[in-house]
Amino acid sequence: GETLLEVKNIVTEFRTADGQLPAVRDVSFSLKKGETLCIVGESGCGKSITSLSVIGLLPSNGKITSGEILYEGAPIHNLPAEKMRQIRGNKISMIFQEPMTALNPVLTVGFQLREPLMLHHKLSKSEANKQGIELLKQVGIPYPEKRMNQYPHELSGGMRQRVMIAIALSCNPGLLIADEPTTALDVTIQAQILDLMNDLKSKFNMGVMMITHDMGVVAEVADRVMVMYAGKKVEEGNVNEIFDNPKHPYTKGLLNSVPNVDDPDFELEAIPGSLPSLHEQIDGCRFHARCKFATDICRSKEPPLSKISDTHHVSCWLEEEEGKLG
Ligand code: SF4
Ligand code: MG
Repeated sequence: GETLLEVKNIVTEFRTADGQLPAVRDVSFSLKKGETLCIVGESGCGKSITSLSVIGLLPSNGKITSGEILYEGAPIHNLPAEKMRQIRGNKISMIFQEPMTALNPVLTVGFQLREPLMLHHKLSKSEANKQGIELLKQVGIPYPEKRMNQYPHELSGGMRQRVMIAIALSCNPGLLIADEPTTALDVTIQAQILDLMNDLKSKFNMGVMMITHDMGVVAEVADRVMVMYAGKKVEEGNVNEIFDNPKHPYTKGLLNSVPNVDDPDFELEAIPGSLPSLHEQIDGCRFHARCKFATDICRSKEPPLSKISDTHHVSCWLEEEEGKLG
């Protein structure tokens, strides 16, 4: 596939009472058309901030302070607000965990679907209405004509998330960013929404960036996986490389916290400890306080990114040492 998005060495910082604190530290990745990249890590690891950096929706005290983001080869990290709004209306869409907060409770589904179509695609109200009904069909909503006149609270959580996806698709985006889109849904509905996202990705040849803490979700949708810890990329690879040959102790920990359906006695091995706060000064590997393999070098020097294959990279001294010996 063709390269859609390139993120090169971005640093995203927050202005706080304690000074500038980096939430994303020199992160690079790329995404092709028709590909799903899952960004994985615990809450607070920087995965949401990475995606908000891409779509230009950082909170007002947040800023990309270095690096660049290219969409179809053109820089988008330094665009004026108005230009970025146009990108969001035409090229990049985002869906969030809780559609109830993203949908306006006092406006009908139809109104919220028609508005972007009239605004960005200059459709008339009746054209937008037809197109809105078509979009609801595409996301698998039964009786779409009836749904157009309903309010968000009249729909189930799964239906609301489908409406959000329909609104996101209304701009015919090349890139869809989904931040924990199924976390609030029960397991059956979650599986249906993930299937829908897989179908839509292929049908429209979109790039999808999926933010999740759930390796079960990763297994369902990912082509590629980027694992983040405390603002850094710690491992990146094709989905089979990450599941069959994980290298970073943190990636292994995430995989061990997925329940095993074939083995009900399998004990969940949670990763002990917790993420450092943005304020903490950490020398060496940012994971060392939680890593059972940590040695002196881990506590003093940050590990470089080592190459496992052309598509698989990891930042861990264990691999760096192994590479040197092997
Ligand atoms: Fe653990 Fe050291 Fe690897 Fe960090 S660099 S993950 S502390 S072994
Ligand atoms: Mg988040």
